Amino acid sequence: MKVLVPVKRVIDFNIKPRVKADGTGVETAGVKMSMNPFDEIAVEEAVRLKEKGVATEIVAVSIGVQQSQDTLRTALAMGADRAILVLTDVAVEPLGVAKVLKALVAKESPDLVILGKQAIDDDMNATGQMLAGLLGWAQGTFASRIEIADGRAAVTREIDGGLETVSLALPAIVTADLRLNEPRYASLPNIMKARKKPLETLAPADLGVDVTPRLTIVSVAEPPARKAGVKVASAEDLVARLRNEAKVI
Ligand code: AMP
Repeated sequence: MKVLVPVKRVIDFNIKPRVKADGTGVETAGVKMSMNPFDEIAVEEAVRLKEKGVATEIVAVSIGVQQSQDTLRTALAMGADRAILVLTDVAVEPLGVAKVLKALVAKESPDLVILGKQAIDDDMNATGQMLAGLLGWAQGTFASRIEIADGRAAVTREIDGGLETVSLALPAIVTADLRLNEPRYASLPNIMKARKKPLETLAPADLGVDVTPRLTIVSVAEPPARKAGVKVASAEDLVARLRNEAKVI
C-alpha cells in the first residue's frame, strides 16, 4: 500500500508571528520555519503503518519554495521513502494545493493520502476536503485513530460531540488531528540517511496545474491588545457592570 503525505513549510509553532509593516502579510524573512505540526503527525502515522507492514512506500510531497526541501528532508528522516517538491514562489491556496495533489495522485496512484487537518499559518482546514472532493474519494477528517483492514480504513474522528468512527473504502483521504500520535524526532543517523533518499523536483506546469491565487489579501493586522481586567467589589457591582458596561445581560 502506497501512502502519500503532503507536508507544508510554515513558521515554527514556537514563534510569535509579526505582521509586516505594510500590512500585506506576516513576516517570514529571517524567521524559523518548520514542518506544519499536523503534518508531522501525518508522517508519523504513515511511518507506523509501514512499521506494521500495512504500508509499503511513503511519498512525502511539498508545494512551495526551494527551502521546502528542508521540510521534505525532515519527512525523509522520520521514515518517508522518497519526496517530491512542487516548486513555486507563489503562496499556493488550498484549492491550488488540492489540484496539484490530484495530479500527483494520478501520477503516483497512492491507496491513502494522509494530510494534516490544517496548516497553522493560515488555518484554512480545507485542502484534504477539497482533494477528496476533486478525486471523488471517501474522506475521514480530524482522525485520532486509523485502522486499515480488508481494503478499508476505519477512521475515528474527533467531532464536537465526542468521537465518530467511519469506514472508508480505499483509496481514501485522511486528515490527522492532534491526538492521532506523538511524532518521533528524527535521529542523527536517519537525518544523514535522508540526505541520500530520492527527492524529485517538478513545476506546477509539469502537472498541468495553474496555481495562480484566486484570493486577494486586503489587509493583515495584529489583534487588538487585551485590556487589563478590573476587580469588582461585590456581586451587585458585577451584575451592574455586565448590564450597563458590557451589555451582555
Ligand atoms: P490547510 O487546508 O491549508 O489548512 O492545510 C491542510 C493540510 O494540507 C496541511 O496540513 C498539509 O498536509 C496540506 N498542505 C497544505 N498546503 C500545502 C503545501 N503547500 N504543500 C504540501 N502540503 C500542503
